[in-house]
Amino acid sequence: MTVWKGSFLKNKAVFLDRDGVIIEHRHHLCNEREVEFIKGSADAIARLNKDFKVIVVSNQSVVARGIATRAEVRQINAFIKKSLAESGARIDAIYFCPHHPEHSGKCPCRKPDIGMLLEAKKRYKIDFTKSYFVGDSTTDIKTGENAGCTTILVKTGYGGHDGIIKVKPSMVARDLAHAAQKICGKRA
Ligand SMILES: [Mg+2]
Ligand SMILES: [Zn+2]
Repeated sequence: MTVWKGSFLKNKAVFLDRDGVIIEHRHHLCNEREVEFIKGSADAIARLNKDFKVIVVSNQSVVARGIATRAEVRQINAFIKKSLAESGARIDAIYFCPHHPEHSGKCPCRKPDIGMLLEAKKRYKIDFTKSYFVGDSTTDIKTGENAGCTTILVKTGYGGHDGIIKVKPSMVARDLAHAAQKICGKRA
């Protein structure tokens, strides 16, 4: 009898940016009281949970800029994770880059570099080619492209109008709920 071990199986992931995708974009967010969820994001994540690891990947240069500490960023992330869990949505992991090239030097994790995705890949055995990156900025789309994921630009947050990098997302969606619909199909 063949026993299939889990380690043979590759996981699919949906990588999500945090600000402007799951929660409203706030300039220099550093307190959980300022967190406001974008409508439909919990249901969208719950839907993605059925077939994907849901992994948040976020640049938080507020740390390098001295506006928030790593502990404060972790606290906000924990609050987001807990609030979503109360709505039946599971975040499997949250990664953030605390750096900024002008304040703390170059790092391998700041998007559009894929250091955070590689860490997730190692930990969860993720196949990037079967995975998605959903983001509101051109940097997010570039990150997904760099990893070889299917990319979805959402029109919430920056809605791709940050003008940082020229990119062509695989798909465009109104918001995370619409993106989840595109990923999972119309069926409920
Ligand atoms: Mg964003
Ligand atoms: Zn970094």
